[in-house]
Amino acid sequence: MDWVQIDRQHVWHPFTQEQTAPLPVEISSAQGAWLYAKEGQRFLDLISSWWVNLHGHAHPTIAAAIAQQAQTLEQVMFAGFTHQPAAELAYELVQRLPTGLTRVFYSDNGSTAIEVALKIALQYWRNQGQQRKRFAVFDGSYHGDTVGAMSVGQGSQFFTHYQALLFQVDVLPYPLTWERDPHVEQKEAVALQAFDAYLQRHAHEVAGILIEPLVQGASGMRMCRPQFLQGLSQRAKAAGVLLLFDEVMTGFGRTGQWFASQTAQVTPDIICLSKGITAGFLPLSVTVCSETVYQAFLGETFDRAFVHGHSFTANPLGCAAALASLQVFKTENTLAKLPQIEHWHRQQLEWLLQHPKVEQVRICGTIAAFNVKATETGYASSVSEHLRTFFMERGILLRPLGNTVYLLPPYCITEDELISGYQVIERALDALI
Ligand SMILES: *Cc1c(COP(=O)(O)O)cnc(C)c1O
Repeated sequence: MDWVQIDRQHVWHPFTQEQTAPLPVEISSAQGAWLYAKEGQRFLDLISSWWVNLHGHAHPTIAAAIAQQAQTLEQVMFAGFTHQPAAELAYELVQRLPTGLTRVFYSDNGSTAIEVALKIALQYWRNQGQQRKRFAVFDGSYHGDTVGAMSVGQGSQFFTHYQALLFQVDVLPYPLTWERDPHVEQKEAVALQAFDAYLQRHAHEVAGILIEPLVQGASGMRMCRPQFLQGLSQRAKAAGVLLLFDEVMTGFGRTGQWFASQTAQVTPDIICLSKGITAGFLPLSVTVCSETVYQAFLGETFDRAFVHGHSFTANPLGCAAALASLQVFKTENTLAKLPQIEHWHRQQLEWLLQHPKVEQVRICGTIAAFNVKATETGYASSVSEHLRTFFMERGILLRPLGNTVYLLPPYCITEDELISGYQVIERALDALI
């Protein structure tokens, strides 16, 4: 069977103009940092398959844990029932999260983790007799593709078609910065002043402030400094506004520590995790809350409870995969290896900073990004497509976001593999001059 042709007849792909897109590449297997195509070609996965893979593909420890779990308990409804993988994973996550985040609500993906966080924040205030409906978000933020997540992602400007469905949010300035940015302190001061002015006018109406800490993912790996998040957190806490962190992408080691919260030394009231949680094996997410937030939902009546749930809430296979991933972190001493990846990225800085086609080089933990100087910059800009094709033809999976090229490799990447990726990038940039 020609599965690619059958795909063309029946499958509708995400973020794809099906009329003009090249045929999709059929991947038949994967191992470590490599994807193997049907045609015998292979691709070095430098973006961890949309940021979900952590330890490399098809890791045997995780595969075995899922197989074992599937033969024991594949699924049970989660209202009125529990199981060891869900309880144990909640326990293990709380051990690793910043102190005070103690209550784990399960759902299926990053977008639902955000929906859950928004609903919890709103009801937290309602349960205390306060009508707080406003959410503050940042310019350039992306939080997923469901309607609530799109609403708080209006700062990304991806969602013009669906504007009619979205609720209003307040979009605040974000102090985007990069390596050797001389204006970073000034940008942070301006953004914090804007936040102060906003709180002065609206603090009593604001349910929560939501941010992707340290790195805004989908709008182009846009980074800010820990200092900004610390300033933000102090102000939010002083004003009594809930601080919500979207760590769907930054979680599980991406920024060098377990969570960006720790890299930035800030503890939010609510945190959303997904993507890397199962190391790329199964869809799963959690929204973890402080004890104070959780307590506001307790009472004698069902009315105060959190009325939300999904068919596959806390699916045992997903939880088993996540637990196995934590096991791999331990046995392979993964966290200790992450500074090495950052170091390899930094070694490439030297030529990157000097290349005439490169600007705004940024690095945070295992994530590196830069912009290609270009006149067009949108998600579907021609430089983006041109580069993606150039990389694919040379066996490298890199998928620029507009004119931003970024690397977000699985943690099993070797120095040689990473350097081979940078060499292809250098050739691509030289071809643009
Ligand atoms: C990917 C992403 C989401 C949405 O997650 P999905 O699993 O795609 O729904 C939300 N927030 C951030 C920061 C993300 O990177």
